[in-house]
Amino acid sequence: MKIIYREEALSKDVIQDPATLSYPSFVSSIDRFAEQYTNDISEQFYFGFPMDPILKVEGTLLSEQVKSTAYFSMEFGIAPSIYNSFQLSRPMNESNKFFTHEVFSNYWLCDYLFRVKIDKILDLPLYGGGLGVLAGDTMKSAADQGFSIIGIGVMWNKGYFKQKFWYKHGQVPVEQAWDPYTYPGLIPLKNKVMIQTKEGPLYLRLWKYYVYSFDKKKACPIVLLDSNLEENSPHFRKLTDQLYRSDDVWWKIFQRLILGVGGMKALESLGYVVNCYHLNEGHAAFALLEKYVTLKDKTQIDAFKENFVFTCHTPVEAGHDRFRIDDVGRILEKEYLEAAQKFGKVSPSSDQINLTFMSLNNCSKVNAVAAKHGEIMRIQFPNFANKIRSITNGIHIHTWASDSFQALFDQYKNIFDDWRSHPEYLAKIRELEGNEVFRRELFEAHLNNKRNLFKIVKNWRIKEEVFTLGWARRIAGYKRPALIFHKTAEIVKLAKTIGPLQIILAGKAHPNDNIGAAHIDEILDHIDQLNNYKDIIRVLILENYDTYFGKLLTNSVDVWLNNPLPPFEASGTSGMKAILNGVLQLSTLDGWVVEAAQNNIGWIFGYQHKGAEVGQETDLRLDEDSKALYQTLAEVMKLYYQTYSHKQINTKSEWIDKMINCIQTSAFFNTQRMVGEYNQYMWQLL
Ligand SMILES: *Cc1c(COP(=O)(O)O)cnc(C)c1O
Repeated sequence: MKIIYREEALSKDVIQDPATLSYPSFVSSIDRFAEQYTNDISEQFYFGFPMDPILKVEGTLLSEQVKSTAYFSMEFGIAPSIYNSFQLSRPMNESNKFFTHEVFSNYWLCDYLFRVKIDKILDLPLYGGGLGVLAGDTMKSAADQGFSIIGIGVMWNKGYFKQKFWYKHGQVPVEQAWDPYTYPGLIPLKNKVMIQTKEGPLYLRLWKYYVYSFDKKKACPIVLLDSNLEENSPHFRKLTDQLYRSDDVWWKIFQRLILGVGGMKALESLGYVVNCYHLNEGHAAFALLEKYVTLKDKTQIDAFKENFVFTCHTPVEAGHDRFRIDDVGRILEKEYLEAAQKFGKVSPSSDQINLTFMSLNNCSKVNAVAAKHGEIMRIQFPNFANKIRSITNGIHIHTWASDSFQALFDQYKNIFDDWRSHPEYLAKIRELEGNEVFRRELFEAHLNNKRNLFKIVKNWRIKEEVFTLGWARRIAGYKRPALIFHKTAEIVKLAKTIGPLQIILAGKAHPNDNIGAAHIDEILDHIDQLNNYKDIIRVLILENYDTYFGKLLTNSVDVWLNNPLPPFEASGTSGMKAILNGVLQLSTLDGWVVEAAQNNIGWIFGYQHKGAEVGQETDLRLDEDSKALYQTLAEVMKLYYQTYSHKQINTKSEWIDKMINCIQTSAFFNTQRMVGEYNQYMWQLL
């Protein structure tokens, strides 16, 4: 498949580059500029990054000549500690710095004595998990390719939540304090928008953040909506406090109103000319209502629906928003409520508004996030089967490649060339397959990453020679977080008969998800019980999983464990971060892995989904799949110890073949390719 990048089109003069925005008019949109931002924003620089790309993209977004996309997402995962490290000349509020994490292990003594200290800036706390990280990576790859795109999101004043492990009592969610006014790169705008609701006017301030391309030559803005304004009543001010607050349907409806309707009003207020509205999940579906309500000639709505596209991210029931019409009617003004019923009722007699249905039914193009997910979506929504295309997720290569792998790819520049702009060149690693020197360097680059992680958790006496398994993700039932501990006697047997074993875990459960919290309790319990075997098995769980740890863990362990219950993992992306760094997969056959498995990137085990039924997400198949896991793990560990022991690397090992297959596979599983497909099939910006 040939994907044309906007970059190429520009160089061929297909698009005329429009005028840029002037610096004075850019600055005039910033609130409190003279008091707070004069040292960090100048004609040359934006928090240490070049100003020019900002003025260019602002120009294209305002221009009628260039097609632009607005990408609506409840969350955006952006972490300056691993990408886009803006500078700030003023002192930063302490709450934006992040220093210590508790670790819970089966080596108890250390848990009492030590904490992990990391000197880094807090991730922009606007995401909860994979959906947000993907949205962030999408913006980065869109910037890399010079697309005219704007992200629309929400300014979560208290983030998602900060995870604390209470010694042996599980997860305790703590409010995430942070200060947007001293967060480098984030700027408040003078623009405010207002949504009229049954409870009175809701005012929203707009903020901006810029995502740069990896070479800092291009950028795209993200606009964030914030209800924490003096004009608002006290309970309205809290609406944009916490991402996915779910204790009350009132919060949920308001948060979706802010993203969808507020987002459309924000575009209007900024004067952007948008050709495509991309709803990343059904959360943003109310954008359709705003388009309809503001349309003078309602018969024109079908033409406008052409401009809406939708990405669905999960086959899991809880991921699809449904609200009772009565509840929506208590909040939305009359004409919005009528539009919601017109667009979002599955049947005329339904008393609910379904945001997934609203998006499926009214967007001209719809995509699933992996081929397998496309198959499942067509089963779940047969009426829309013809509309559903799958565009497989990816990761932003430049963000997730570790330093030692970047150095290795750069060292073989004759092979990998400009792999940052063209990740497809990673497939050329095949040419190095028989090169002994390279095979050794590849394994050494991996060992380097492993040492990096082990330096951070050194107090737990983690050993470089020992086989290390990693699992880190959002704690959700279908991901089966405690599968590896289902029969701990089996892990003990493996460690006794094959060799020692280290397991490192991390993950947050949604604060209102009791089942998720129970999984964490269960994991902590198992870790506790493994104390007797601490000489041959070392298990660590790290507090407060974020993108920094996401990067650290995915690139440093020997094998990445992925054990969702098929077919409920729509895609998954953490394994893609792992393969880019030569970390092998031990996985069930689900999500993206279905498309990658034939490349022999590790080991597949457990239940495989087939047939025309989706199945039950509560039927977790723990007994049979844990058995399959232990059997496969025995094979994995044997090969590991044949590959690396007594500090000797066996360069002939099949392990290294698999590492090479992993990197080759990264040529496809990246957001550069994904964004190209989004453009070709959904945005059509060229
Ligand atoms: C990559 C990433 C995810 C997504 O991982 P999955 O494999 O999709 O579960 C979630 N959280 C963080 C912090 C990540 O870096």
